[in-house]
Amino acid sequence: MPPPELSLAERETTSHNAAALEALKRGEPAVWLKPDSPAAPRLEASVTLADVADAVARLERFRPALQILFPRSGWDGRINSSLIDYPRAAGFPLLVKADHALPLTGSIKARGGVYELLCRIERMALSDGLLSDGDSYEALVTATAAEVFSRHKVVVASTGNLGFSIGLVARAFGLAADVHMSRDAKAWKKDRLVQLGATVVEHDCDYTLTVAGAREAAAASGSDFIDDETSRELLIGYATAADELIAQLAERGLVPSKAQPLVVYLPCGVGGAPGGVTFGLKARLGDAVTCVFVEPVASACVFAALAAGGGAPLSVYELGADNLTIADGLAVPLASALVLEVVGSSIDAVVALTDEQILTWVRRAWREAGLRLEPSAAAALAAVEPYRQAIAARPGLDSAIHIAWTTGGSLLPDAEFERLLA
Ligand SMILES: *Cc1c(COP(=O)(O)O)cnc(C)c1O
Repeated sequence: MPPPELSLAERETTSHNAAALEALKRGEPAVWLKPDSPAAPRLEASVTLADVADAVARLERFRPALQILFPRSGWDGRINSSLIDYPRAAGFPLLVKADHALPLTGSIKARGGVYELLCRIERMALSDGLLSDGDSYEALVTATAAEVFSRHKVVVASTGNLGFSIGLVARAFGLAADVHMSRDAKAWKKDRLVQLGATVVEHDCDYTLTVAGAREAAAASGSDFIDDETSRELLIGYATAADELIAQLAERGLVPSKAQPLVVYLPCGVGGAPGGVTFGLKARLGDAVTCVFVEPVASACVFAALAAGGGAPLSVYELGADNLTIADGLAVPLASALVLEVVGSSIDAVVALTDEQILTWVRRAWREAGLRLEPSAAAALAAVEPYRQAIAARPGLDSAIHIAWTTGGSLLPDAEFERLLA
């Protein structure tokens, strides 16, 4: 089901939000701040912490299978990332949640996208008799299993990283994979998928239309469609990152509180990855965490929906934006309706950045910290100063723990990365 849309004229836009929208319409960087309202954030019952606990258990069951399929010395089969210090004399501590170096796929999609795929694989394995209660999931990497999986096909649509991640892991288990790529997708991801035996279907259009095309193709062929715009499981997979982060903070003696709040900067495309992380963090930490979404000015779809009000997605084209950005992972013109429903009222701020601001941070992160980030991930770092400036008048900022969530880039080929640095 495509998400319902509400045109700009059908909404009530407050004057505060109207100013933020005007900046976006001019193609300028902008910060949207959640208006002060007495209403507590509403965490929808359609996703619960029990779902997240279930996901953690499922990922644990898959650990031995993933270790066999993706051998890497010293890897324990867990899809997690480190929390590192950003080395810079900025006068405040800045940490980096290094999802750009996640195992398997080098992007945050290894959490949500791969988790949803594993849910599907588990269901196939149970219904096809590959698994019974208590079996080790090593049973999913036998020749018999691969033969069974080869009769199944998954279909996915992507601006690059989701398709790359789903295709890579699906092929490792032996599933057929049709990956529909929007015009944003980089050639190296498509080439790599073809080498792995996935079918890449190229669309000369944006992400939203590519999803619609892929959804139709999947329905026509009766295949499993992994739907980034509407999937609960994707969101739940991303939410598992919250407890991982909270434990890493605790190891450093950091326990977020109202006196020492956490501020996380989350790059946002359709909203699933930042939305899932926000769900998990808000459920655990409540007011002690501030969730800042980060988008390119040209593709600020969550910004647009929140600033326009009304709770429904709003296409960035209605604002005159063109959805053309160097941050291919974030090049989405319309936010997920599910994400807006589940965490829309929990999003504290959205920072919209120009490509130039983002590129500056691709270079700085490399020069200052040796981090190989794609533009979508560097956006998290680029958002820190604009957000701090936007809330400079508020108390409590000095003690906050700032975390930039670097969502992808470690697998960028040298030539791609050098082009960004040049
Ligand atoms: C997909 C992606 C995001 C955003 O995730 P959404 O679920 O689309 O909001 C951010 N950064 C990178 C590198 C990504 O690939």
